Amino acid sequence: MSAQIELSNIDKHYGSFHALKGVSLTIEKGSFVALVGPSGCGKSTLLRSIAGLESITSGSMSIAGKPMTGVPPRKRDVAMVFQSYALYPHMTVEQNLTYSLRLHGVGKVEAKLKAGEVAATTGLTDLLKRYPRELSGGQRQRVAMGRAIIRNPKAFLFDEPLSNLDAALRVHMRKEIRALHDRLGATSVYVTHDQIEAMTMADHVVVMRAGVVEQQGSPLELYDRPVSRFVAGFIGSPAMNFVEAVVGADGRSAVLDTSGGGTVPLPAPLEAGRAVVVGLRPEHLRAVPDNGQFTLIVGNVESTGSTTFITSDDELVTLVQAERTGLKPGHSVALTIAPEHVHVFDPATGLRI
Ligand code: ATP
Repeated sequence: MSAQIELSNIDKHYGSFHALKGVSLTIEKGSFVALVGPSGCGKSTLLRSIAGLESITSGSMSIAGKPMTGVPPRKRDVAMVFQSYALYPHMTVEQNLTYSLRLHGVGKVEAKLKAGEVAATTGLTDLLKRYPRELSGGQRQRVAMGRAIIRNPKAFLFDEPLSNLDAALRVHMRKEIRALHDRLGATSVYVTHDQIEAMTMADHVVVMRAGVVEQQGSPLELYDRPVSRFVAGFIGSPAMNFVEAVVGADGRSAVLDTSGGGTVPLPAPLEAGRAVVVGLRPEHLRAVPDNGQFTLIVGNVESTGSTTFITSDDELVTLVQAERTGLKPGHSVALTIAPEHVHVFDPATGLRI
């Protein structure tokens, strides 16, 4: 694989506000990269900088090996797909698809032919004569993608393209976008604040926090070995439980500071008496009839039908079970967890120990 987009030490200031702080990133040709992070972390700014819609304060960037300094957006050969589809309401689907080609001097017949090909790829063949108001949200999203595809760009840049759609359609469109990416052999950069979207669609996930790249890797690398409490809390649903604890005298377990008390085994020995924060994913906790390592005193029980969420009375620990349960507030549950599933963080820095 070769780099399709290379970002080196990108800084962006909006007046006195430092929105991107030394971001370096290599986006391989053919990869699907998701930029995720909480609102305001700079992911849209980074995407817009790649598109040339935002000027960067310092650093450098290349697309397909060409330096992009001073290159205007329309010469960058990338296509943006937004959440607001920005279709022309007075034009048919076909005219929406061919508009930018016509603008770039492509003849009418050739543009129509290309529109036919793109419509076939995106499932719009029967809708070419319709106007945007006559389409569903998912169909409009497909036209927006078709319009990007027709220009055969070096990369697709998606800015939360699915956030206007209802939950079921979003799940469907995720698969459609990913399948399209694979079919076209495209390079895609996808901004979302939805970690599930990032985890299910991308080959490579970049977690941003306050203008810096906190961690990047494959979805499962981030899930299995988050470098910090921030990433650990962001990746995975329901979110990881974080509990303050102190390493026990044996150095191999940590005594939990929870209402139910008890210990969890540590994945590697640590010095006795050290204060830590342990991260326990709800799906890794096992309820056992007796001989639990630690105890959860039930505060709240919620069931979605397929899944039951049991939260402790101090709200520090949530347990997820596939089975229904007769547990009520005040009951105790004995729990165990395997040492390899216990994540340990430094309470002061939040970094993985
Ligand atoms: P969201 O998910 O909410 O869209 P984001 O991670 O995409 O968030 P950005 O839109 O990249 O965030 O914005 C990053 C930060 O830069 C925010 O704190 C935002 O307020 C600030 N910002 C964005 N555009 C401007 C601007 N034109 N002038 C000043 N500050 C800006």
